[in-house]
Amino acid sequence: MYEVTKESVFSLLKKLTEVVGPSGFEDAARDIVIEELKPYADSLWVDSLGNVIAVKRGSRGSGRLMLAGHMDEIGLIISFIDQRGFLRFQPIGGVSERVLLGQRVQIRTREGRVIRGVIGSKPPHIMKPEELKQVPEIKDMFIDVGAGSREEVEKMGVTVGSIAVFDRELTFLGGSTDVVTGKAIDDRVGVVATIEAFKAIDGNEVDVYAVATVQEEVGLKGARVAAYSISPNVALALDVTIASDVAGIPEQDWITQLGKGPAIKVVDGRAATGLIAHPAVRDKLIELAKQYGIPHQVEVAPGGTTDASAIALNKEGVPAATVSIPARYIHSPVEVIHLADLVNSAKLTAIFSSKITSEWVLAISKRVIK
Ligand code: ZN
Repeated sequence: MYEVTKESVFSLLKKLTEVVGPSGFEDAARDIVIEELKPYADSLWVDSLGNVIAVKRGSRGSGRLMLAGHMDEIGLIISFIDQRGFLRFQPIGGVSERVLLGQRVQIRTREGRVIRGVIGSKPPHIMKPEELKQVPEIKDMFIDVGAGSREEVEKMGVTVGSIAVFDRELTFLGGSTDVVTGKAIDDRVGVVATIEAFKAIDGNEVDVYAVATVQEEVGLKGARVAAYSISPNVALALDVTIASDVAGIPEQDWITQLGKGPAIKVVDGRAATGLIAHPAVRDKLIELAKQYGIPHQVEVAPGGTTDASAIALNKEGVPAATVSIPARYIHSPVEVIHLADLVNSAKLTAIFSSKITSEWVLAISKRVIK
C-alpha cells in the first residue's frame, strides 16, 4: 500500500510549484501530473480544455467520486512590447498590484524555454510625496528583460501573448523541516493532495476520478466541463484556504491555523455565496477524520471559493465538499503551508475515497419520497 509522507509530498510539490503554468497555459504542470497518475490509473485522458482525468475503478462499479485540484496558477500575460524592449502586461487571475513591484518573473518563450525578467516602475527618488504613499497600478509597471529593443525581445522568443509567473523555488522557512514557502502553492498543493490520495486509495467500492483541473483562477472553468463529462455522484475539491493566524490579526479573523490539520469547509464566498458544502459529505469527512485520528479543523471562509462550487451545480446537482490546506499569503510569491497539513489532507481524501460505499453515495444524491 502506498504511504503518503512529508518527503513524498515535498518532492512532488517542489516539482509542481517550480514550473510555469498560469490559467490556460498549464502544459508543464500537466506533463508532471500525467506521469504521476499514469501508473495508478485504470484509464487516463486529457479533455479539450486540458483537464487531466484519471480513473480508478471501484469494486462495486456503481457510484462515481470526483476529486479536483487545480493545476493553474495566477500569472501575467504580455500585452505590449515597446520600441526599447520593455514589456507591458495584464493579470491572469487575482494578481494584486501590492505584491508585483520588485519581483523577479519567469517568462515562457515561444520555444518553451524560460527566461528571467524583473518588474519595474518609476524610481521612488523621482516620485512626488503623495505618489510614494500609493500602490502603483499595473498600467504603470513593466517587465525588464534586459533587452535594448523590441527586436531583441522578439529574438528571445517573447511576443504579445507570452505568459509570465513569479520566479520562486519551493524552500523551507527558517530552520524548519515542516513549513515551506514558494509560489503557486495555490493550488499545486491541491494537485499533490489529489495525486497522493489517488496513489494511496485502497479497496474503493466506488469509481474514483482524480482530476487536475485547468482555469480555476479565471472562473472555475476546467472543473465545470470535467464534471459534465464525469457526472459524479459526489465530489471533493482540494484547494488552499486562508490561514490569517499571523501577527496583528485577532483570533476571530484567523479562519484556519497553519499546522492544525486540513480544514473541512462549511461555507465559503462573500455571505456564503460560494459553496455551501453538502452536509452529508462534510459530516462524513469529519466522522472519518475523527475515526482515523487525522487532525482537522472546521472552516467558514468569508471570501474566495473553489472548484467544488462549479461541480456542485453540474446537471441535477452534485453533493460536494472541500478539503482545504491552510495557507498564508495566498496569491503572493511567498505562499506558506505546513507539510503535515498537506500529508493529512491527502490521507483524509484517500480514506474518504476508500471507505464510502456505493449505497451511501447513491442515497445522498437522491432521496426518493414517494
Ligand atoms: Zn486555488
